Amino acid sequence: MKLYNTLTRKKETFQPQDSKTVRMYVCGPTVYNHLHIGNVRPVIVFDALRRYFERFKGWDVLYVQNITDIDDKLIDRAAETGRTVAEIAEEYTDAYFDLLKKLAIKEPTESPRATGNIAGMIELVKRLIEKRLAYEVDGDVYYRVTAFAGYGKLSNRRIEDLKTGARIATSEKKENPLDFTLWKRAKPGEPKWGSPWGEGRPGWHTECVVLSRKYLGETFDIHAGGNDLVFPHHENEIAQAEGATGKPFARFWLHNGMLTFTGEKMSKSLGNFAYAHEVLQQFGPETVRYFYLSHHYRKPLDYAQEGLEAAAKASSRVQTMIDDTASELAAHPSDKTDETGQEFLSSLEPYRARYIEAMDDDLNTVGAIAAIQEIVAATNRFKGTATGDARLALKDAVALLRDLGYPLGLFQEKGHLLKGIEDDLIRLLIDLRAKLRTQKEFTLSDQIRERLLELGIILKDTAQGTIWTV
Ligand SMILES: [Zn+2]
Repeated sequence: MKLYNTLTRKKETFQPQDSKTVRMYVCGPTVYNHLHIGNVRPVIVFDALRRYFERFKGWDVLYVQNITDIDDKLIDRAAETGRTVAEIAEEYTDAYFDLLKKLAIKEPTESPRATGNIAGMIELVKRLIEKRLAYEVDGDVYYRVTAFAGYGKLSNRRIEDLKTGARIATSEKKENPLDFTLWKRAKPGEPKWGSPWGEGRPGWHTECVVLSRKYLGETFDIHAGGNDLVFPHHENEIAQAEGATGKPFARFWLHNGMLTFTGEKMSKSLGNFAYAHEVLQQFGPETVRYFYLSHHYRKPLDYAQEGLEAAAKASSRVQTMIDDTASELAAHPSDKTDETGQEFLSSLEPYRARYIEAMDDDLNTVGAIAAIQEIVAATNRFKGTATGDARLALKDAVALLRDLGYPLGLFQEKGHLLKGIEDDLIRLLIDLRAKLRTQKEFTLSDQIRERLLELGIILKDTAQGTIWTV
């Protein structure tokens, strides 16, 4: 399989270092607010890559994603709202995991919190100071970029060029305006941890180095994120990790393109964004996944209502065909098709090969979806004419479509993506029923229970509250 490596600026053959387990790190959210829809792109894209590794390459995946729960943005938000940083972090960490569940994203193997790993960050900063790659001024510690020969290699920039572009006098304390913060001295009232340089907190760039190395080792397979992180975040990670160990950090650097809004980068600070959970509410998880995966992950993608509507149509057409075909044949006792059916199944093989070829070519999900659509068209044609045992081949066609859909998180068993939302909806009805009961509106509350029962959902009142089963 080939993947485009930002570090070498070309597609390279990818194999996990130990040929069994892919060790990958994807930069996670800063939990000061809900995610906007653009932030969901790396989440979906790298989930698809992970699922493809697991299902089609036979590799295990160690997938690590950090939760940034201490940062200037959190501190600002706390000051604005009068709440604590910890309260805000907890609320939006929960919201993040809820979103992953609704989008049917496989949970990361590890989701370390920055605040749970401060000691490791202090150790790294100490080591960088020992190696004269960092220096302390008045309780702050900075990385000395000119001391690291490889600085700029990921983003393909030279320090001299960067210098002319840098805003001078951001800090009088730095030796060089490009030097970045490793440890930040706490102002009164800010969250703080003790360190050899006084009380303060680590910088964001340090966090990802320590958390990736903790679970994946000094040199690991893939480091991924949005291409807005290439500089300075990922460049600064390399400077620290490779500066400290003298060994290569990540072997492959993968970056997705930005979601734009009428051509501009979507961002909270620009105000031209939509929250992910709101888009999800309107369009559902299948549509959002299809929307992203029907475009190449490295290209910029413009967010538009029409794009999502087209994705909704295209994905539901496939899903409906699969569901209808599966239910038509579910009750049939035999799986054995006849010669006509076998011929039809053989005719699908080239499309499967085309799917693999596309996915192997730098995760070209656009080509993969095109191959799936060809199978859908062929299956529909066959469905229109096949009779008797020949129709049983449709079972295998459905199984094939579900197999190819798996990495995309699409076209699975009916309703698999809805579980998170279903649960929320039923909880909503349970809460409503409880409220009606306290108001002695028993006719209405019983109606809720009965209507749910008709749908096959059983409510049980227990000492801990009402639970539901099917
Ligand atoms: Zn990061």
